[in-house]
Parts: sequence; structure tokens; C-alpha cells
Amino acid sequence: MSRVYNFSAGPAVLPVEVLQEAADEMLDYRGTGMSVMEMSHRSKAFDNIIKEAEADLRKLMNIPDNYKVLFLQGGASQQFAMIPMNFMKNRKAGYILTGQWAKKAFSEAKIFGEAVELASSADKTFTYIPDCSDLPITDDMDYVYICENNTIYGTKYHTLPNTKGKLLIADQSSCFLSEPVDVTKYGMIYAGVQKNVGPAGTVIAIIREDLITDDVLPGTPTMLKYKTQADNDSLYNTPPCYGIYICGKVFKWLLKTGGLEERKKINEAKAKILYDFLDQSKMFKGTVEKESRSIMNVPFVTGDKDLDAKFVAEAKAAGFENLKGHRTVGGMRASIYNAMPTEGVVALVDFMKKFEAENTK
Ligand SMILES: *Cc1c(COP(=O)(O)O)cnc(C)c1O
Repeated sequence: MSRVYNFSAGPAVLPVEVLQEAADEMLDYRGTGMSVMEMSHRSKAFDNIIKEAEADLRKLMNIPDNYKVLFLQGGASQQFAMIPMNFMKNRKAGYILTGQWAKKAFSEAKIFGEAVELASSADKTFTYIPDCSDLPITDDMDYVYICENNTIYGTKYHTLPNTKGKLLIADQSSCFLSEPVDVTKYGMIYAGVQKNVGPAGTVIAIIREDLITDDVLPGTPTMLKYKTQADNDSLYNTPPCYGIYICGKVFKWLLKTGGLEERKKINEAKAKILYDFLDQSKMFKGTVEKESRSIMNVPFVTGDKDLDAKFVAEAKAAGFENLKGHRTVGGMRASIYNAMPTEGVVALVDFMKKFEAENTK
């Protein structure tokens, strides 16, 4: 068996230990004689899985007791609608536009009310995080929405916006569990798990309890009320059982390897290897302003489309997969999530050096 270095933006690389453990338990989960895929979501075995996953996540992120943890379905994109349906009581909210995912959430919110653009970095193709120290937030806004790490453009908020006392709601899909966060600064954090935690389809939402009420927009379907999910401990209907099981294993892996403080150090050191190379290379250039760089998604270009394509093809042949940039941006992007080993980034940089030498006259 040989595994490639997978730089996919999502679904993305998972820890080998986790995959191996899941493989070992595939046919007989701990003496139950069945796979987790085959068991009732009301069984004792699954009840333990979901409870342990939640407890481990609470430990990892230091989630206060007055926040609910929900395991939902529908991908991160379903949250684009659930958020306004549940929280846009005044039918008005502020959005900061830092890329495709923020823009999609913004368009979805417009279905339900007035979504106001508070700031945007569209003027420079989303290569930076706008200044959010004094946003035009008004009193009648229900919340301020951000996409905290922009998967496609490779930017990340290094300071949270000044929301002037309004609730902050953050899409953390591509930076979830990459470093510690202060949960109390948010009304809600959510993440589609296929970037950093598990298989696609599962979404984790962490919501301050007092925000979860029956006071939702008229017509909100039962399944799309956070209250329904919270009242039933994410078991209103059949949850994404196998996804939750894998997430639980990743939480344990993160706890075992030192938690989020340690993970942040590893991730920063890992990203630095690539950024340091990009900063001195004559051929490859990072596309993001330094102060806004993500440590999870690193886009870069050579400035020459044909050379980009040659690089992606030769990298693939050498075992570096999914380095092609997003279809809307071009160039290259290396997603270096938690489970990408440092050796993978070192090997990529060595390969880039070799490519640069071979393709420079
Ligand atoms: C991938 C991604 C999404 C979309 O996730 P789906 O599960 O495909 O809906 C949303 N936001 C961010 C930041 C993402 O990286």
C-alpha cells in the first residue's frame, strides 16, 4: 500500500491512525458483531460514541456549559440558510465578504431578510482580510457573520471583527480545531467536518444556549430549527452516525497529541516551511497579503499558466495530489490541514525547489 501526500482542500487528508483504527473496527465494532454503519443510532454502543465525541470536543475546545454542541447534516452550506432562519429575527444582519463561502452565505441570507455588506475584500480578489475595527453595524442587526478561514483564497482572520456588541457567527469549516479559540467570543461557531475532522456530510455547530429558541422565522421546517436538534441531542432523526464516529476518533487523536495549543504550534511551524520558501522563491509566489495568511490553505502561483499546469502535473506524478488551485482562482493551492504531516510539506518544498531549478534558464 502506498499513500500519497494529499493536499486537497476538502474532503481532505485524515490521520492514518484514525483510518487504521476505523478499518480494524469495520466488521466488528468492539464486540457488537457489526460495523458502526450498521448499528441503530438508538443503541447503547452508538450512544457512547456520540456522547464521548461531544465530551472530547468540549475538552479540546474548552466549550463552556452554556453552549450546545450539535452534530448536523446538510454540509456547511445548509447553515447558510439555517442561520438566518433561526437568528434573523429583525430580518437584518451584517456580512463580511472575504470570498466565495462568505458570498454564498450572504446571498442565502438575502432570501430571508436584509443582508448588509459590512466590508469586503473583493477589490483585490479576496487576497486580504478587510479592516474590521469600525464596521457600519447598526442596532437593528441580529448578528455579524464571518467566514473565519477562507479555504479558496487562503486568508484567515487573525483578529476577530469588532461587532459592537452584536452576536458573532463564524464559519470555521477550514480552520476548525487547527488552534485554540475563545468560544465565548461567538454566538455560534460551525464547521463542515470534511476539511479538518472527518467525512463530508457532518456539520458541527456550537451555539450559545440562550440563542436556541422557538422564535424562528415563520415557515422554518422542523429539521432546520436548532431547537429541534438541541432538544433531541442531535438525535431527532438518524444522525450521520459514521461521520460522528470518525470525528470522535479525530478528537481523541488531537487530545492524545497535545490538544489545540500544541496543534497550533505544529501547524504554524508547518505553514512557515512553505511560506518561507515562497517568500524567497523567484518562481513561486504566495497570493495572499502576509498579515492575512492562513495556516491551513496556501495558494501560490508562478505567474505563468502553462508553468502552473506543468508543475501540477509533475507534482502529481511525484505523489503530491490535489495541488491545483480552485477553479475560480487558478494557480496552485496546498491545503495543509491538521492531518498533513510536516514531512509532507518538507517533501513538497523540496519538490518545488527542484522544479524551480529545472525550469529556470
Ligand atoms: C467547504 C466549505 C464550505 C462548504 O461545505 P459543504 O459541506 O460542501 O457545504 C463552506 N464554508 C467553508 C469555509 C468551506 O471551506
